[in-house]
Amino acid sequence: MEKIGIYPGSFDPVTLGHLDIIERSSKLFDKLIVAVLINSGKKALFSVEDRVKMIEDATKDIPNVEVTSFDGLFVDFAKKMNATTSVRGLRAVSDFEYELQMSQINRHMSSELDTIFLSTDIKYAYLSSSIVKEIASLKGDIKDFVPANVIPLIEDKYK
Ligand code: ADP
Repeated sequence: MEKIGIYPGSFDPVTLGHLDIIERSSKLFDKLIVAVLINSGKKALFSVEDRVKMIEDATKDIPNVEVTSFDGLFVDFAKKMNATTSVRGLRAVSDFEYELQMSQINRHMSSELDTIFLSTDIKYAYLSSSIVKEIASLKGDIKDFVPANVIPLIEDKYK
């Protein structure tokens, strides 16, 4: 049976830290689904469609990565996509408590769904989508933080 992993997140926008997790986890599965969360409660900089498109562009050289979006309960979506493993990145201990709780409640709701954590590459440990937006809004250089295709899209937002 095909082994399918799923990497959910807001990706507003996708960063090099996310891309590192995508590249590494794509090697662990036959197929990796990157799933952009449609969160109407959270004010996002980019539309869900733009986020899907920018992740597709950034991952076009990894053949077993598929990018999509979802709303509703993550465990239901994972089941619908036949994914057995959720992938999350851990930057620091501060991520851990929340991630552990999420993985435990998800496993309670769907006993077939396991979560694996990849520790972030140390060079991206301080990176988050929000810090990238903050730097871009102050006209700082973001080329070390996001995939090349994402740079003009962010710059356009803060023109
Ligand atoms: P969420 O809003 O669900 O936290 P994010 O898009 O911010 O979504 O993050 C999705 C996942 O990617 C989370 O598991 C998060 O810990 C991980 N992640 C975020 N930034 C990095 C990074 N710089 N390096 C590794 N993993 C990261």
